[in-house]
Amino acid sequence: MVRTRFAPSPTGYLHIGGLRTALYAYLFAKKHNGKFILRIEDTDQTREVDGAVDIIISALNKAGINYDEGPIVGGDHGPYVQSERKDIYLKYAAQLIKSGDAYYCFCSKDRLAEIHEKGATKYDKHCLHLSETEIQDRIARGEPYVIRQNIPETGTHTYHDEVFGDVTVDYKDLEDNILIKSDGMPTYNFANVIDDHLMGITHCIRGVEYLMSTPKYNLLYDALGWERPVYIHLQPIMRDSQHKLSKRDGDAGFEDFLKKGFLPHAIVNYIALLGWNPKNNCEKMSMAELINSFSIDGLQKSSSIFDETKMRWLNSLYIKELSAEEFHNAAQPYYAEYYPDKNIDYKYLSELLQSRCEVLADIKERAAFLDAFDNFDLELFVNKKWKTDRAMAKSLIDDCIKATESADLGAALETLAVDRGLKKGQVLWIYRIALTGAAATPGGGEEMVKLFGKNEALRRLKAVKDRLK
Ligand code: GLU
Repeated sequence: MVRTRFAPSPTGYLHIGGLRTALYAYLFAKKHNGKFILRIEDTDQTREVDGAVDIIISALNKAGINYDEGPIVGGDHGPYVQSERKDIYLKYAAQLIKSGDAYYCFCSKDRLAEIHEKGATKYDKHCLHLSETEIQDRIARGEPYVIRQNIPETGTHTYHDEVFGDVTVDYKDLEDNILIKSDGMPTYNFANVIDDHLMGITHCIRGVEYLMSTPKYNLLYDALGWERPVYIHLQPIMRDSQHKLSKRDGDAGFEDFLKKGFLPHAIVNYIALLGWNPKNNCEKMSMAELINSFSIDGLQKSSSIFDETKMRWLNSLYIKELSAEEFHNAAQPYYAEYYPDKNIDYKYLSELLQSRCEVLADIKERAAFLDAFDNFDLELFVNKKWKTDRAMAKSLIDDCIKATESADLGAALETLAVDRGLKKGQVLWIYRIALTGAAATPGGGEEMVKLFGKNEALRRLKAVKDRLK
């Protein structure tokens, strides 16, 4: 059975690239009726942030990427948090020491700095040749040590990656990496192998930064007599042709995009296509469609550039599909933050805004007219296209008030234009400015009256009349 995993470090932040890795692993597993596992890689405890695991889990939930095994839900291959698996790693490290594939290293930081100063680019295997008695003595004396992998000094290693094809690495370019740190914790270089094997991972889907170090992991699989997983390395998501989309850009996190008013599935749909070609010319796809069409041979060898404009477009399609009630609910936080306690029909505002927002955060700008009325600049009546001005506004304002009081506002405004020999657009412009004080509103005067209610509309028009005197 296919088993894939997502193995984030709990840094308090889910990068959009990480989310895509999770998504591909999920899609691949589900496509093959397999299992998708969440594993928390928290062995670098200096990087850990409180609540970070919850952030990851909540992000995956919102994205609709449901894991079958992992923290909270459990499973037969737990624990799924690496810091709770310390003893497991130590056991296998001991086995590797016995077989000569790993060794104790007592070198101090100073010594390592010294060899690097002298030009060494990697660890010099100094401790590989310590005698058994010396090792035992030093351990007994309580000297701090690490356990390093013993990499061959010569030769090459070739393995197959499903995206990149055959990858060959020279052993001389690999270092005897630390497997177990002096605090007894494993490094990624060790834990990923042990866990992927013990958790039955069949396909290892991860970032391309691990492509060249994979031979080290293969050596560990071989030394332990385990079958290697299938490797699928993914190119990063780029900000432009030179730079990765990074946390420093301030908007590379899944949550950042949610805050900007993207819908979770629109983000998921968009990033699915960043690096994978569904080969069916479809762009808008539900999770079920993504699962159905996902395949490894659509994964791209080249990196892809993140295009927020395109994601906004896709998001706008999903926004239009929301029911009126869903949109209204999703809009609440924006109303609360930017336009609380307005004397308007908020439900109707949502109706006006739904087709006019690409992302929910557009609500701020699209509804800015709500704050425009008080003391607006009367020069706004001047419109070059419509050839309107203040004097025209003054001459129309009484009739605008009358039209508002009439039973059929639309017809009344039309009659007004005919009676005065004006274009309908001229009357509508003046009417809408007089009501809102804003040049841009979602919908025209009639919609605005419906939004404010007749009384408020009349109050506004009368206030404008006073100002035009
Ligand atoms: N913890 C690693 C990371 O955050 C996981 C890499 C992998 O998927 O093996 O990059």
